[in-house]
Amino acid sequence: MTAARLLTEHTLRREVVDVARSLHERGWVANHDGNVTAKAAPGRIVATSTALSKRLVDSINLIVVDERGRVVGGRHRPFGELAMHLAVYAARDDVRAVVHAHPPHATALATTGGSLECFLPEAVVSLGANVPLVPLAPPGPKAVDALAPFLEAHDVVLLESHGVLAWGPDPETAFLRLELVEHLARIRALALPEGGPRRLSRELIAELLVARTRAGLGPEARRATKP
Ligand SMILES: [Zn+2]
Repeated sequence: MTAARLLTEHTLRREVVDVARSLHERGWVANHDGNVTAKAAPGRIVATSTALSKRLVDSINLIVVDERGRVVGGRHRPFGELAMHLAVYAARDDVRAVVHAHPPHATALATTGGSLECFLPEAVVSLGANVPLVPLAPPGPKAVDALAPFLEAHDVVLLESHGVLAWGPDPETAFLRLELVEHLARIRALALPEGGPRRLSRELIAELLVARTRAGLGPEARRATKP
């Protein structure tokens, strides 16, 4: 529920580094997994580079790409999942950051082909009624096509047999959305031996979605503030 903040490129670079290292510290990535981008200005999207542990992300190995994915700053190469990040920016002019990782509980759910119904009231306000599952597709244009239908209504998705992709007005907010999805998936896993979390009633979800819009979150709130 963070209000949009205007961040300088210098500050954004620091947030991208912080978020990337946090992904590693939390155990949400292995090997070279995971990536973070933040849009500083038109034609300037700060990004983590490919083939690098998120533990080692630093300001000196960040790159800058434009909206077509061409490197316009830095000495390293872009990561293979960049097309999905660029699709988010193209579809949502309110988005300034995208975070991707493979957090174990949420990714486990994504490997079963299940989506995540939000079963805690606070999560409905923060994320909406559910976190959808984007069907599995090969990297590149087909992954972008699979993601496209979910961009307008959601701020975080499960990627089937893959992981989680979250976006928001700044890197911290996108990270918090990913964190909340992993937290919900973990609680869900803990509740499964007892029959799984109970579903919230439709009436309560409707009330919570009104609260979500009132908090300035979600597609209804965005439509209301569009000029
Ligand atoms: Zn991935």
